Amino acid sequence: MDEIDCAVIGGGVVGLAVARALALSGREVLVLESEGAIGTGTSSRNSEVIHAGIYYPQGSLKARLCVEGKQMLYAYAAERGVPHQRCGKLIVATSPEQAGQLEAIQKKAADNGIDDLVLLTAQQAIAMEPQLHCVAALHSPSTGIVDSHALMLSLLGDLENAGGMLALKSPMARGECVDGVIVLTAEDGTVLRCRSVVNAAGLGAPALARRFEGLPSSSVPKEYFAKGNYFTLSGRAPFSRLIYPVPEPGGLGVHLTIDLGGQAKFGPDVQWVSSPDELVVHPSRGEGFYAEVRKYWPALPDGALIPGYAGMRPKISGPGEPAADFMIEGPASHGVPGLVNLFGIESPGLTSSLAIGSHVADLLHDA
Ligand SMILES: Cc1cc2nc3c(=O)[nH]c(=O)nc-3n(C[C@H](O)[C@H](O)[C@H](O)COP(=O)(O)OP(=O)(O)OC[C@H]3O[C@@H](n4cnc5c(N)ncnc54)[C@H](O)[C@@H]3O)c2cc1C
Repeated sequence: MDEIDCAVIGGGVVGLAVARALALSGREVLVLESEGAIGTGTSSRNSEVIHAGIYYPQGSLKARLCVEGKQMLYAYAAERGVPHQRCGKLIVATSPEQAGQLEAIQKKAADNGIDDLVLLTAQQAIAMEPQLHCVAALHSPSTGIVDSHALMLSLLGDLENAGGMLALKSPMARGECVDGVIVLTAEDGTVLRCRSVVNAAGLGAPALARRFEGLPSSSVPKEYFAKGNYFTLSGRAPFSRLIYPVPEPGGLGVHLTIDLGGQAKFGPDVQWVSSPDELVVHPSRGEGFYAEVRKYWPALPDGALIPGYAGMRPKISGPGEPAADFMIEGPASHGVPGLVNLFGIESPGLTSSLAIGSHVADLLHDA
């Protein structure tokens, strides 16, 4: 039977950031990824936004790790030459009722330590973005965008430089937690004896955790899947900043983001689905996008939205329920030595990835 000090299951941005942090702390680390490449899951199906940390409840892991992660990510990207841009974003109110919500958003942000948000009149916002329609707006200067693939390649490089390894096409089937050791079995029957295991399997993390013998089933949440559809804009982007409506239940509303190549896309919307594999974008969903986008960009031309791609949110709270926090459970929570499960790592997981890495390395400090 092969042995390893520490196995990280899942080679998405979070698994790679965790593996890097563990390797830099001196641990022997192996990343086990089921696919033939890193980052083919949710990590390559998102908005690539570096979130400021505005919306999350004070004291939550999302609030803390997003704010810490944002600072770490800007510093890391600058140091390593990972393409990124601190382009800023406008949160726009398109009705008087929404304008009232902007101050509440600004206060929530301040509670999370973000004190750089500026309330703008419609005239001030339109002076920044002439194509915009709004009655008021909030400017977040610390929001940005990052090349998530370049980030993951850089994290992998750090991992390998620190002696860590990556095994592709290595789907894990189950685990057995006995006598302070975790024995992993891969789908092809390969067995690996580990001192520590981090379950960073994203959408598959709860299902995999349920196949860990010795882990109390009460410590594994039920999973839900909320698809986010994107439509890309044909033609030039009309804005130079990210444009977000006031948030809607389950997501951030149909917003406009720009990638580092200048391509604009709208989305993601929120579509609850039963399977994480339902990733086709149906053109008919675009009809709802036109009305939403025209609330803040009335000049959106007919026929300008092209079905793009979809991402799947790994939810642990269902439709109509309050949004759940990140659930990062170490030995102190579930009682199994050496095991950390990461559940519900939806947005702002990309922004938070480096901070999640440090947090998990701390949880396993004595393991
Ligand atoms: C629509 C959408 C938009 C988003 N936008 C943003 C944003 O703008 N900014 C932001 O900060 N965050 C955003 N996020 C969140 C962010 O994308 C995720 O939090 C992040 O990518 C999660 O990374 P991960 O490594 O946990 O998961 P994943 O990227 O899904 O990685 C998990 C990996 O585990 C592997 N795996 C699964 N099961 C097994 C197994 N049994 N054995 C081995 N490997 C396995 C998978 O193949 C996969 O590669 C968004 C998410 C969505 C859905």
